[in-house]
Amino acid sequence: MRHLARFIAKAIAFLSPLLRQGGGTSAPGLALLKLDPKAVPRMAAGLSDGRIVISATNGKTSTTRILSNITTKAQISSVSNAAGANLKSGIATALLKKSSSQKLGVFEVDEGVLPEIVAEIGADTIILMNLFRDQLDRYGELETIRESWKSMIDKLPASTNLLINADDPSLVFASLCHPNLIFFGLGETDYALESIPHAADSSQCPRCNNQLQYSQVTISHMGNWQCIQCGLSRPDLDFEATEIELRGVENIKFKILSRTGEEPIEAKLPGLHNVYNVLAAFAAAKQLDIQTETARIAIASVNAAFGRTETIQLKDKKLTLLLAKNPAGANSNLETLLLHPERIHLSVLLNDRIADGRDVSWIWDVDYEKIFHKIESLHVGGERAYDLALRFMYGGYDPEKITVKDKISDLIDCLLTETPPDSSIFVLPSYTAMLDLRAELVSRGLTHEFWKEGL
Ligand SMILES: [Zn+2]
Repeated sequence: MRHLARFIAKAIAFLSPLLRQGGGTSAPGLALLKLDPKAVPRMAAGLSDGRIVISATNGKTSTTRILSNITTKAQISSVSNAAGANLKSGIATALLKKSSSQKLGVFEVDEGVLPEIVAEIGADTIILMNLFRDQLDRYGELETIRESWKSMIDKLPASTNLLINADDPSLVFASLCHPNLIFFGLGETDYALESIPHAADSSQCPRCNNQLQYSQVTISHMGNWQCIQCGLSRPDLDFEATEIELRGVENIKFKILSRTGEEPIEAKLPGLHNVYNVLAAFAAAKQLDIQTETARIAIASVNAAFGRTETIQLKDKKLTLLLAKNPAGANSNLETLLLHPERIHLSVLLNDRIADGRDVSWIWDVDYEKIFHKIESLHVGGERAYDLALRFMYGGYDPEKITVKDKISDLIDCLLTETPPDSSIFVLPSYTAMLDLRAELVSRGLTHEFWKEGL
């Protein structure tokens, strides 16, 4: 029966890319789990070099991809789930497709299903990056996820490596009882925010609920924090990013300070959020005893995960996609856009499908006003284009200068004809709006399909 289940699922894995069912990233696993619900623990048991899971509201796809690049460079054969296929079905699909030589698993896991996946695959390294407000109508309050993560951590065997972003107070509090902790975070940087943005999800002490004090705020509620009431504070960092340079919308350069010394790092990825992603991947690579030089070369060669930050040549223009699916991610991208030397052609796209979250009120927590002075032209698009238009209008943007295009194909036509040659166009799409935009660009032969990219 087991073999038959696998055979059927593999047949689906072969067929579904041909049938255009999301590139076969989840469908085969879904079929396998229906036929054989215990398939994941059994298949994961074959990963004798380790099972690493990465979870976060923002950055899990990019971090997984960076770490996979490093392991490949280190000639450790690893298996990963496809970008965004981070529920159990996506992981089952990856395990199903794995070859016998792949002994290491590197999986991005949706924050809502993390405890279940950790238990099923027996994760021996867990990387927790951040928790921001996202898709509340899918999982309920952020608090529910925090609590489920905490009770997951309480049950972990002592041997599990827990890599924690120390700049996120709630993750530190949730993990403090675990004996095997590695903390990463950002040292002092010129790119810190002046204060906590109003989108910040939690600036209260996770232990005593008192207002936290920050000597530095990096993204949303993350930074160098302490509670003067109960004494909880950011722990000492095992891996610290220092001397950070954000080089426009394309590159980052910094040093990683750890017990073994100070390592210069460069990556073709933009923004402070990617400093966190690279730092987490580097810290995980060190747990695998991968040489620093190997990690450094791999990091320098990594390209952004599709659609998260991706530049596509749009005839004589350059279109850069920066995924913005919640306030923390969107605000981080706006900070990155502020680094662009010229004025920008901006498109913001918003859908309200299940994968985006049905509630689009989060756009009111994004500080779009910050970049108004940089905007040369503004297009809003997607199924909730008019909500965006209203948001910009209320922020004080001249409504006469907002172009509304709720159809993606119209938007692309408009960008192609109305922006001058050699323009840089920046698009901030929600998740399914990003998929729609890419699909339209693919159908016009302007880029490739993401599932052909491989991991
Ligand atoms: Zn406190």
